[in-house]
Amino acid sequence: EEASQANDIWKLYDPHRQDEAAWALSLMSRLDHAIDTQELWVAFQPKASAASGEIIGAEALVRWQHPTRGLISPDQFIPVAEEANRIDRLTEFVLDRAVEGAASITALGHSFSIAVNLSTQMLLRPDLSEMIDTILARHQFPHASLTLEITETGQLVSSPLKLAMMKKLSQRGIQVSIDDYGTGNATLEYLKLLPSNEVKIDRRFVFNIVNDQLDRILVESTIDVAHNLGRTVVAEGVESEAVRAALVGMGCDVIQGFLVGKPVDLETLKRRVGIGRGQLRTG
Ligand code: C2E
Ligand code: MG
Ligand code: MG
Ligand code: MG
Repeated sequence: EEASQANDIWKLYDPHRQDEAAWALSLMSRLDHAIDTQELWVAFQPKASAASGEIIGAEALVRWQHPTRGLISPDQFIPVAEEANRIDRLTEFVLDRAVEGAASITALGHSFSIAVNLSTQMLLRPDLSEMIDTILARHQFPHASLTLEITETGQLVSSPLKLAMMKKLSQRGIQVSIDDYGTGNATLEYLKLLPSNEVKIDRRFVFNIVNDQLDRILVESTIDVAHNLGRTVVAEGVESEAVRAALVGMGCDVIQGFLVGKPVDLETLKRRVGIGRGQLRTG
């Protein structure tokens, strides 16, 4: 702890912070270009029924293949885009590609739902609901098969405007998921206050349930609470068959993680849905 504190103080004098600011600026100046040229693209990570292994949907995860810096993680550029108020077009782009991709899978005769991560900042956009309606209509995709995953739930409960938009989206039939569940400090309150359909348990609690009794108790209790409130439970970060088996024993509904599949491009996902139904893959 002391070491990390010293580290924080040292950061204040870090000359690299200057570089970071310049880097953020250069990323944002390239954002529109990246969207137009498909440097920015959407990966799909499959979600499976925990019990049967059947693929029932996917989560859309944005990727930035930068020509000189290589693959940049969304954890690096999403916060920058939020800060620079550039999240609107990016979100619209991801939603459109995600829904288009999911619609192309349902067109093959598979029932399939799609989850998209939503920055809570977007909830301040007055026409968000109409924007989503337009995208769903364009691809003839049902509201009920779209899930919006919300991570910064704390910002939601403290903003009446954001909460009102969330309720509007939910009333339109869109599914709402509380992402990274368990990592905030008032998660039970969110379950009470938010119009959510799904609880997505953070992978830091999931990955070690086979070995760590405390994690196991936390996950099992979370599943019970969520089920008692009528929510679907998704476990993220499922990397092994042993973890899946433990989750099935606890009644978990849906699993996502490297055991089911890594995030892949749409064509790879389509092949996977076509040939892999009803069976899990390792690797
Ligand atoms: P998230 O929504 O919690 O997504 C799950 C992250 O865990 C993804 O990282 C995924 O690749 C990774 N992951 C999935 N399964 C496993 C596993 O079995 N083991 C391990 N170790 N990791 C796994 P990724 O793609 O780097 O995304 C990071 C975060 O960036 C996401 O966390 C999400 O909060 C955010 N994000 C991604 N795309 C978007 C987007 O289009 N819009 C917004 N606002 N945020 C996004
Ligand atoms: Mg997510
Ligand atoms: Mg998550
Ligand atoms: Mg996350």
